Amino acid sequence: MTAGGQIVVVEPGEQRPDPRTLGLRTADAVIGAHPEQTHVSYAVTLIPGDGIGPELADATVAVLEATGIAFAWEIQQAGEATIAAEGTPLPDRVVDSIRRTGVAIKGPITTPVGSGFRSVNVALRQVLELYANVRPARSMVGVQSRYTDVDLLIVRENTEDLYAGIEHRVGPDAAESIKIITRGASQRIARYAFEYAVRNGRHKVTAVHKANIMKLTDGLFLESCQQVAAEYDGRVAFEDRIVDNMCMQLVQKPELYDVLVLPNLYGDIISDLAAGLVGGLGVAPGANIGEHAAVFEAVHGSAPKYAGQNKANPTALILSGALMLRHIGETEAADRVESAVRAVIAEGKTTTYDLGGGAGTREFAEAVAERVHPT
Ligand code: NAD
Repeated sequence: MTAGGQIVVVEPGEQRPDPRTLGLRTADAVIGAHPEQTHVSYAVTLIPGDGIGPELADATVAVLEATGIAFAWEIQQAGEATIAAEGTPLPDRVVDSIRRTGVAIKGPITTPVGSGFRSVNVALRQVLELYANVRPARSMVGVQSRYTDVDLLIVRENTEDLYAGIEHRVGPDAAESIKIITRGASQRIARYAFEYAVRNGRHKVTAVHKANIMKLTDGLFLESCQQVAAEYDGRVAFEDRIVDNMCMQLVQKPELYDVLVLPNLYGDIISDLAAGLVGGLGVAPGANIGEHAAVFEAVHGSAPKYAGQNKANPTALILSGALMLRHIGETEAADRVESAVRAVIAEGKTTTYDLGGGAGTREFAEAVAERVHPT
C-alpha cells in the first residue's frame, strides 16, 4: 500500500499527525496500530496552473477526495502568475515541494511566447529526471472516434534519443543531430513498462524500434528490452515491431496491442497517434515518472479563452489523477475513478461542450464524484 514509502504507526488514542509535519513523502503513510484504525494520508503537490488549470484542479481534487482516500495537498502556484511576483514561472519552492512529496498533479501552464522563459513542463522533466512519459489511450463510449475497443498504454523514454539536443551545422548546407541510446536508460524504461504491466494486470509489452536500419542505436534499445523481458518470462508476453509497421498495425487493428515501450522520438509520435485513435487530446491523461518523483498532468494546454468560465472538460486531469492513484498503489480507487468518468461520459447527460453536452466543469466533476464514493 505504501509503495516503498515510510510508515508511521499511530498508537490507539493518539492523534493522527499531518504527513507534511513529519516530512514524509507522498507514498509515506500514517497508519493506525490496528487494522480497523488504519488511516492513510498522502502528501501530494498540487499545481493549479494557468488558464483553465485552476478549475480543472478543483474538479480533480473533488473527485480524488470522493474516493475516501485522504490527501494533504501542498498547493504550489507556478506559471504566469508567479512570473510577475517571483520573476520565474517555476520558483524553486515548487520543485522542492515535489521533491518532498514525491508526487504532483499539475494543471496546464501557459508557455510565454517571445520571452526567455523555458517551458515549465520541459524544465520539470529535466530537473526531476522524469524518465518515463506514460499515456494511456482507451476508447470511451460517448467520445467520438473511429474505434470502440482500443486500450493502449504508451511508455515513452523521455531523456535521450534525438531529443538530447546535440545538433550542429556542417558548413552552410548540412546539419547533423546525434542520437543517443544507452543500455541503462533503455533497460530502465523497459522495466517500467513490465512492472506497470504486472501491477495493473496488462498481458503484453511490445517494444517499438527501427533496428533493421539503425542497428547500433535502435539495436541496443531492442536488445535492452529483450534482456528485461527475459526477467518477466511467463508473466508478461513480449514482442517487438518495427516502427513503420507499428503505425500501420495501430491504424488497422489497434485492439491487438496492449503496452508499447518506445524510445523518445517514436514515443512522441505514436502517443499522439494513439490519442487520435480514441478521440483526440481533449480526454488524454498523462504522467511523467522518475525514480524519486512523478508529475501527473493532462496532455492538453491551458486553453486561455475558456479560463474562468466553468466550461472546460476536466476529464484528462481527473484521469491523470487516477494514474497518480495507481502510481501510489491505490489501484482499487483508481479503477473506481476511471469507471465513474466512463459511466458519466457514456450516459451523456452531464458532459461538457466538447463532448456535445451542456454541463460545466463543476457539474461534470460532481457527477463523477457521486459515482466514485466507496460503497
Ligand atoms: P490547448 O490544448 O490549450 O487548447 C487548444 C484547444 O483545445 C482550445 O482552444 C480548446 O478548444 C480545446 N481544449 C483544450 N483543453 C480543453 C479542455 N480541457 N476542455 C475543453 N476544450 C479544451 O492548446 P494551445 O492553445 O496550443 O495552448 C495554450 C497554452 O497552453 C500555450 O501557452 C501552450 O504552451 C500551453 N500548453 C501547456 C501544456 C502543459 O502545461 N502540459 C500542454 C500544451 C500546451
